[in-house]
Amino acid sequence: VTTTDSERSALAVDIGGTKFAAGVVDPRGRVLAAERVRTPPDGDAEELFAALVSAVQGALSAAGLTFGDAALAPAIGVGTAAPMDLTAGTVSPVNIFGWRGFPLRDRLSDRFGVPVGLIGDAVAVAVAEHWLGAARGHANVLGMVVSTGVGGGLVLGGRVMPGATGNAGHIGHASVDPNGPGCVCGGIGCLEAIASGTSLAAWARGQGLADAVDAAAVARSAREGDPIALAAFRRAADALGLAIAGAVTTLDLELVVIGGGVAQAGAVLFDPLAQAYARYAALGFARAPRVVPARLAASAGLIGAAAVVHRPDAYWPGWEWDASGPAR
Ligand SMILES: [Zn+2]
Repeated sequence: VTTTDSERSALAVDIGGTKFAAGVVDPRGRVLAAERVRTPPDGDAEELFAALVSAVQGALSAAGLTFGDAALAPAIGVGTAAPMDLTAGTVSPVNIFGWRGFPLRDRLSDRFGVPVGLIGDAVAVAVAEHWLGAARGHANVLGMVVSTGVGGGLVLGGRVMPGATGNAGHIGHASVDPNGPGCVCGGIGCLEAIASGTSLAAWARGQGLADAVDAAAVARSAREGDPIALAAFRRAADALGLAIAGAVTTLDLELVVIGGGVAQAGAVLFDPLAQAYARYAALGFARAPRVVPARLAASAGLIGAAAVVHRPDAYWPGWEWDASGPAR
């Protein structure tokens, strides 16, 4: 049996504030094996890297593959919580305190002996949903992750728009309230400071919902009709609607796709979000786009990261892989 380039699988990594995931993804975007580990909450740079390496090894082992096998492409695609520096290959995720300017691309490349392509985690969601999910057939899409933090990434004209440093679309740290709460990034009233799962649950606890341990718990209470939980989702949805209406109006988008844990809340988030969006998107061209949940759900980040290996020409024309990864 021979394996051609077009049949090889890719090793993909999804780095978030709550979990590190690694997966083996085939050329059709199917996740053949995956390993998820909890992000060490107070881990230093090396503890975090060790956890990531264990996730990668777990995924390879579950798939029965190693780098060097003909069935595995000799490269790693990484979607990381932002911000990042595409040129330097470093990451400084807002919610992963142990990594500030961490040389993730070179460290992974050295550890596994293959080049590494780095993108934002919400860029990965945008690409995955454009490739195989809710945004198929839409050339102009904002993908978002609403989870521990809030991230965003753009597919414009069918291609990834990286921006100057790889952070284009990072809507989570756009301010939606000049009088709002301080944000972990140093800003004021950032979308993330209001609408992330962490912020949403903290607000609900502050209002007296004692069992609001996380956004999923608030969502359960909201579905049972708890007024504080419903208000927490309305508040987050209003901030999201405001920010998204600004992005759609600025960029003339066709669709907004939201992944991440908070998006799995379903109607308690998306119903008030549709109302807020309609309130803030006034111009005709900005009224039509819809805001929908990611169809690929928890796998969108891995599938989008795998696209760095499987579909570079489609989404990143002009990137050329060298020894350390794609360079612009
Ligand atoms: Zn911020």
